[in-house]
Amino acid sequence: MMGSHDVLIIGAGTGGSIAARFAAKSGLDVCLIDRKPKESVGNKICGDAVGNEIFDYLNIPHPKNEELSCHIKGAKLYPPSMNSCLTLVDPKQAGYIINRLEFGQRLLNEALDAGVKSFLDETMALDLIYKDKKVAGVKVKTKNGERQELRAKVIIDASGFYSPIRKKIRSPLIENDILKEDTILCYREIISFPFKDQEVRDPEYISIILDQEKAPGGYIWYFPKNESSVNLGLGTFLKHKNILKNNYKQHVFNQFINTSEVEILSSGGGVVPVRRPLWSCVEDSIMFVGDAACQVNPLHGGGIDPSMRAGFMAAQTAIQAFEREDFSKKGLWKYNHNIMTTLGAEFAPLDLLRMVLQALTNDDINFGLERNLLTGEEILEISSTGGLNLSIMDFAVKAFKGLARPNLLLDLNYLRLRMQEITKHYKHFPEGFNFEEFTRWREKTIQIYDNLIKIIIRSRNKDILLRSEIYG
Ligand SMILES: Cc1cc2nc3c(=O)[nH]c(=O)nc-3n(C[C@H](O)[C@H](O)[C@H](O)COP(=O)(O)OP(=O)(O)OC[C@H]3O[C@@H](n4cnc5c(N)ncnc54)[C@H](O)[C@@H]3O)c2cc1C
Repeated sequence: MMGSHDVLIIGAGTGGSIAARFAAKSGLDVCLIDRKPKESVGNKICGDAVGNEIFDYLNIPHPKNEELSCHIKGAKLYPPSMNSCLTLVDPKQAGYIINRLEFGQRLLNEALDAGVKSFLDETMALDLIYKDKKVAGVKVKTKNGERQELRAKVIIDASGFYSPIRKKIRSPLIENDILKEDTILCYREIISFPFKDQEVRDPEYISIILDQEKAPGGYIWYFPKNESSVNLGLGTFLKHKNILKNNYKQHVFNQFINTSEVEILSSGGGVVPVRRPLWSCVEDSIMFVGDAACQVNPLHGGGIDPSMRAGFMAAQTAIQAFEREDFSKKGLWKYNHNIMTTLGAEFAPLDLLRMVLQALTNDDINFGLERNLLTGEEILEISSTGGLNLSIMDFAVKAFKGLARPNLLLDLNYLRLRMQEITKHYKHFPEGFNFEEFTRWREKTIQIYDNLIKIIIRSRNKDILLRSEIYG
């Protein structure tokens, strides 16, 4: 047995490093582990885009120097035809393209400086240890290949999408597996033009292209890095993994790179969950943070900001649990309530929108974006509040623009109402733990999803399982 700590954090990515930093700063004895060697922590296949809000929220320094690739004013959204473009500029969401490794190293080092007692790199969490039917620790494989046990009063799992801990937890509150339909598989390359013989297009904007044929279920991205390099990628439903790289080469690389003098600085694939957060991000003695808890924006797959936000909230809840000496799910429920009423209330409606968007055809998307069925401001309102308030007049204007496709407009209006409903529902997540109340809340969530899915099945003739068939 290797040791016992107040808090054990699995994964030193963006979520885990922030949780470790704030828990350690309060004086708790924190052990942080990561399967990677210390010098590789932060190195992740990513689009590298992060808004500036999170740094003010956490009151930590904004990216600068070697961490920072470039500043971004906003996003440009293109339909498959690429005949038009919606520019999305939100001063609060403007931000940065970061160098992921340097950024991750900074977050880790700041956590260590804040007083993390023990950092174990090349240490992989394998399974949970249970005592009296409650989580008491984690079995790990250490740097030298030994199997050891780490125990703690509070465990924070921030080990990312493939979390072995979430897969193994025995809980009626938490789903162990994430549906394939709720994940997006991506391939991306960071490409440099050493001779600067190709211009970086729109260097102050990230560009996103929706195309159901080239990137089914996901999107193509073109993110600037600096005056001579870009981050290019493509995401699709997991079931298209066989065509992913080929589609990238043909429809992204060949489309956007027109010089043969390139250097591929980094390439690789990764998976991102695009759905509402886990039913519960809490069990006795354990909290789930970041990708492990599906706390990612379902619309664009951005998870850096939410994982850092959730890491902070988990640390605050751990601190309060020690003050009250209550490490049960009742004692940690505050974290669940915070997550569901903030990230949940934002992401659940976007999850509904994501499901509708994924069911649209290229013709629908061309029609909607070329005719401005939604304006840039409206899309920003949806993505920051999870809803859209339309006056009768606004609606009449949209109805007029959408005359050629009344069904599309009706579906979008039905979606809008369900998005408003689910936002309100998440804002009323049970404040304290009560199994019956939680079950009723969960059933109502399933019902809202099912009502929308039935419409998608009926009007778009899509093969989607009802949530009640999956979650019972
Ligand atoms: C291709 C791609 C592009 C993306 N682009 C963007 C983007 O532009 N902007 C954005 O905001 N988000 C983006 N995301 C999502 C974002 O990367 C994640 O949501 C975010 O990194 C989640 O942080 P995390 O701390 O939960 O997990 P991670 O950052 O994945 O960290 C998990 C850590 O846990 C460690 N670990 C894993 N398993 C174990 C184990 N068993 N034991 C010990 N340690 C373990 C890992 O080594 C890692 O350090 C993208 C994701 C992908 C795949």
